[in-house]
Amino acid sequence: MGDLPYSEEEFMNSKKEMDMLVANSRADKKIQPNALFANLGEVTRALSSGTVTWARKSSLWPLQFGLACCAMELMDFGSARIDAERNGYLMFRATPRQCDVMIIAGWVTKAVIPEIKRLYEQMSEPRHVIAYGECATCGGPWFESYNIIKGIDQVLPVDVYVAGCPPKPENLFGAMMKLNKKVGGDIEED
Ligand code: SF4
Repeated sequence: MGDLPYSEEEFMNSKKEMDMLVANSRADKKIQPNALFANLGEVTRALSSGTVTWARKSSLWPLQFGLACCAMELMDFGSARIDAERNGYLMFRATPRQCDVMIIAGWVTKAVIPEIKRLYEQMSEPRHVIAYGECATCGGPWFESYNIIKGIDQVLPVDVYVAGCPPKPENLFGAMMKLNKKVGGDIEED
Protein backbone atom coordinates (compact mmCIF):
# COMPACT_ATOMS: atom_id res chain seq x y z
CA MET A 1 0.00 0.00 0.00
CA GLY A 2 3.06 2.28 -0.26
CA ASP A 3 3.24 5.22 2.16
CA LEU A 4 -0.44 5.39 3.12
CA PRO A 5 -1.06 6.45 6.75
CA TYR A 6 -3.01 3.26 7.45
CA SER A 7 -2.37 -0.42 7.11
CA GLU A 8 -3.62 -2.46 4.20
CA GLU A 9 -5.93 -4.37 6.53
CA GLU A 10 -7.59 -1.15 7.71
CA PHE A 11 -7.95 0.05 4.13
CA MET A 12 -9.54 -3.17 2.98
CA ASN A 13 -12.05 -3.50 5.82
CA SER A 14 -14.46 -0.62 6.27
CA LYS A 15 -15.83 -1.92 9.58
CA LYS A 16 -12.35 -2.08 11.11
CA GLU A 17 -11.68 1.41 9.80
CA MET A 18 -14.87 2.73 11.39
CA ASP A 19 -14.11 0.95 14.68
CA MET A 20 -10.65 2.54 14.65
CA LEU A 21 -12.19 5.99 14.10
CA VAL A 22 -14.53 5.51 17.05
CA ALA A 23 -11.71 4.28 19.29
CA ASN A 24 -9.46 7.21 18.36
CA SER A 25 -12.28 9.67 18.80
CA ARG A 26 -13.04 8.36 22.29
CA ALA A 27 -9.36 8.40 23.23
CA ASP A 28 -9.06 12.09 22.17
CA LYS A 29 -12.44 12.94 23.72
CA LYS A 30 -13.24 14.67 20.43
CA ILE A 31 -16.04 13.54 18.14
CA GLN A 32 -14.88 13.64 14.53
CA PRO A 33 -17.64 13.77 11.88
CA ASN A 34 -16.76 10.34 10.53
CA ALA A 35 -16.66 8.89 14.03
CA LEU A 36 -20.07 10.41 14.69
CA PHE A 37 -21.48 8.45 11.77
CA ALA A 38 -19.70 5.35 12.99
CA ASN A 39 -21.28 5.84 16.43
CA LEU A 40 -24.66 6.14 14.75
CA GLY A 41 -23.82 2.86 13.06
CA GLU A 42 -23.33 1.30 16.49
CA VAL A 43 -26.73 2.58 17.57
CA THR A 44 -28.25 1.07 14.43
CA ARG A 45 -26.59 -2.26 15.17
CA ALA A 46 -28.04 -2.12 18.65
CA LEU A 47 -31.60 -1.84 17.30
CA SER A 48 -33.69 -4.97 17.17
CA SER A 49 -32.35 -7.48 14.67
CA GLY A 50 -35.76 -7.60 12.99
CA THR A 51 -35.64 -3.92 12.10
CA VAL A 52 -32.08 -4.19 10.82
CA THR A 53 -32.91 -7.29 8.79
CA TRP A 54 -35.96 -5.60 7.30
CA ALA A 55 -33.89 -2.57 6.32
CA ARG A 56 -31.15 -4.75 4.82
CA LYS A 57 -33.43 -6.89 2.75
CA SER A 58 -35.44 -3.90 1.54
CA SER A 59 -32.49 -1.96 0.19
CA LEU A 60 -30.07 -4.26 -1.62
CA TRP A 61 -27.79 -1.81 -3.38
CA PRO A 62 -25.60 -3.23 -6.17
CA LEU A 63 -22.12 -2.05 -7.04
CA GLN A 64 -21.92 -0.17 -10.35
CA PHE A 65 -19.62 -2.61 -12.00
CA GLY A 66 -19.51 -4.81 -15.11
CA LEU A 67 -16.93 -7.02 -16.81
CA ALA A 68 -18.16 -7.99 -20.30
CA CYS A 69 -21.25 -8.32 -22.51
CA CYS A 70 -23.50 -9.41 -19.62
CA ALA A 71 -23.08 -5.86 -18.32
CA MET A 72 -25.25 -4.70 -21.24
CA GLU A 73 -28.06 -6.81 -19.80
CA LEU A 74 -27.29 -5.29 -16.44
CA MET A 75 -28.09 -1.89 -17.96
CA ASP A 76 -31.45 -3.22 -19.14
CA PHE A 77 -32.07 -4.29 -15.55
CA GLY A 78 -32.17 -0.57 -14.79
CA SER A 79 -34.57 0.25 -17.60
CA ALA A 80 -38.24 1.20 -17.34
CA ARG A 81 -39.17 -2.23 -18.78
CA ILE A 82 -37.81 -4.14 -15.78
CA ASP A 83 -38.32 -1.31 -13.30
CA ALA A 84 -36.02 -2.83 -10.67
CA GLU A 85 -36.44 0.24 -8.51
CA ARG A 86 -39.93 -0.86 -7.50
CA ASN A 87 -38.27 -3.41 -5.19
CA GLY A 88 -35.49 -1.13 -4.01
CA TYR A 89 -32.77 -2.77 -6.12
CA LEU A 90 -31.65 0.13 -8.22
CA MET A 91 -29.39 2.27 -6.11
CA PHE A 92 -26.30 1.33 -8.11
CA ARG A 93 -23.46 2.89 -6.17
CA ALA A 94 -20.06 3.82 -7.53
CA THR A 95 -18.33 3.19 -4.20
CA PRO A 96 -18.15 -0.35 -2.80
CA ARG A 97 -18.50 0.92 0.77
CA GLN A 98 -22.15 1.78 0.15
CA CYS A 99 -23.02 -1.50 -1.58
CA ASP A 100 -24.50 -4.78 -0.46
CA VAL A 101 -24.38 -6.77 -3.69
CA MET A 102 -21.64 -7.43 -6.22
CA ILE A 103 -23.11 -8.64 -9.52
CA ILE A 104 -20.42 -10.43 -11.51
CA ALA A 105 -21.56 -9.68 -15.08
CA GLY A 106 -19.11 -11.16 -17.60
CA TRP A 107 -16.08 -13.41 -17.82
CA VAL A 108 -13.44 -13.14 -15.13
CA THR A 109 -9.86 -13.04 -16.34
CA LYS A 110 -7.05 -14.02 -14.00
CA ALA A 111 -5.62 -10.51 -14.41
CA VAL A 112 -8.71 -8.82 -12.98
CA ILE A 113 -9.11 -11.07 -9.91
CA PRO A 114 -7.05 -8.85 -7.53
CA GLU A 115 -9.22 -5.83 -8.41
CA ILE A 116 -12.45 -7.80 -7.91
CA LYS A 117 -11.18 -9.05 -4.54
CA ARG A 118 -10.25 -5.52 -3.51
CA LEU A 119 -13.71 -4.19 -4.40
CA TYR A 120 -15.34 -7.07 -2.54
CA GLU A 121 -13.24 -6.50 0.57
CA GLN A 122 -14.14 -2.81 0.54
CA MET A 123 -17.88 -3.57 0.59
CA SER A 124 -19.58 -3.36 3.95
CA GLU A 125 -20.63 -6.57 5.64
CA PRO A 126 -22.90 -8.43 5.18
CA ARG A 127 -22.07 -8.50 1.47
CA HIS A 128 -23.41 -10.71 -1.26
CA VAL A 129 -22.39 -11.94 -4.70
CA ILE A 130 -24.55 -12.84 -7.70
CA ALA A 131 -22.93 -14.78 -10.55
CA TYR A 132 -24.80 -13.32 -13.52
CA GLY A 133 -24.55 -15.48 -16.65
CA GLU A 134 -22.60 -18.47 -17.88
CA CYS A 135 -19.18 -16.80 -17.86
CA ALA A 136 -19.49 -15.72 -14.23
CA THR A 137 -20.87 -19.13 -13.28
CA CYS A 138 -18.52 -21.53 -15.09
CA GLY A 139 -16.41 -19.69 -17.67
CA GLY A 140 -19.09 -19.89 -20.38
CA PRO A 141 -17.78 -20.13 -23.96
CA TRP A 142 -14.25 -19.64 -22.58
CA PHE A 143 -14.49 -22.68 -20.32
CA GLU A 144 -11.12 -23.98 -21.51
CA SER A 145 -9.39 -20.64 -21.87
CA TYR A 146 -5.96 -20.23 -20.33
CA ASN A 147 -6.74 -16.80 -18.84
CA ILE A 148 -10.42 -16.98 -17.79
CA ILE A 149 -11.43 -18.73 -14.58
CA LYS A 150 -14.19 -21.34 -14.48
CA GLY A 151 -16.57 -19.31 -12.35
CA ILE A 152 -16.32 -16.53 -9.80
CA ASP A 153 -17.01 -19.06 -7.02
CA GLN A 154 -13.33 -19.99 -7.30
CA VAL A 155 -12.59 -16.58 -5.84
CA LEU A 156 -15.64 -15.31 -3.91
CA PRO A 157 -18.59 -16.96 -2.12
CA VAL A 158 -21.62 -16.81 -4.42
CA ASP A 159 -25.15 -16.38 -3.06
CA VAL A 160 -27.19 -16.76 -6.25
CA TYR A 161 -26.38 -18.00 -9.78
CA VAL A 162 -28.23 -16.75 -12.86
CA ALA A 163 -28.19 -18.97 -15.97
CA GLY A 164 -28.03 -17.76 -19.57
CA CYS A 165 -25.75 -16.39 -22.27
CA PRO A 166 -26.73 -13.68 -22.17
CA PRO A 167 -28.94 -14.02 -19.10
CA LYS A 168 -32.22 -12.15 -19.12
CA PRO A 169 -32.51 -9.09 -16.90
CA GLU A 170 -35.82 -10.53 -15.70
CA ASN A 171 -33.82 -13.42 -14.26
CA LEU A 172 -31.58 -10.97 -12.43
CA PHE A 173 -34.72 -9.49 -10.94
CA GLY A 174 -35.64 -13.03 -9.83
CA ALA A 175 -32.14 -13.52 -8.38
CA MET A 176 -32.45 -10.30 -6.40
CA MET A 177 -35.81 -11.49 -5.06
CA LYS A 178 -34.15 -14.75 -4.01
CA LEU A 179 -31.34 -12.84 -2.33
CA ASN A 180 -33.95 -10.65 -0.72
CA LYS A 181 -35.49 -13.73 0.88
CA LYS A 182 -32.10 -15.09 1.89
CA VAL A 183 -31.14 -11.85 3.63
CA GLY A 184 -34.55 -11.83 5.31
CA GLY A 185 -33.95 -15.35 6.63
CA ASP A 186 -36.73 -16.90 4.51
CA ILE A 187 -34.26 -19.18 2.67
CA GLU A 188 -31.71 -21.36 4.40
CA GLU A 189 -28.04 -20.72 3.52
CA ASP A 190 -26.41 -23.60 1.62
S1 SF4 B 1 -22.41 -15.22 -20.50
FE1 SF4 B 1 -22.53 -14.75 -22.68
S2 SF4 B 1 -23.31 -12.64 -22.73
FE2 SF4 B 1 -22.51 -13.00 -20.67
S3 SF4 B 1 -20.38 -12.29 -20.69
FE3 SF4 B 1 -20.38 -14.49 -21.17
S4 SF4 B 1 -20.41 -14.57 -23.41
FE4 SF4 B 1 -21.06 -12.51 -22.84
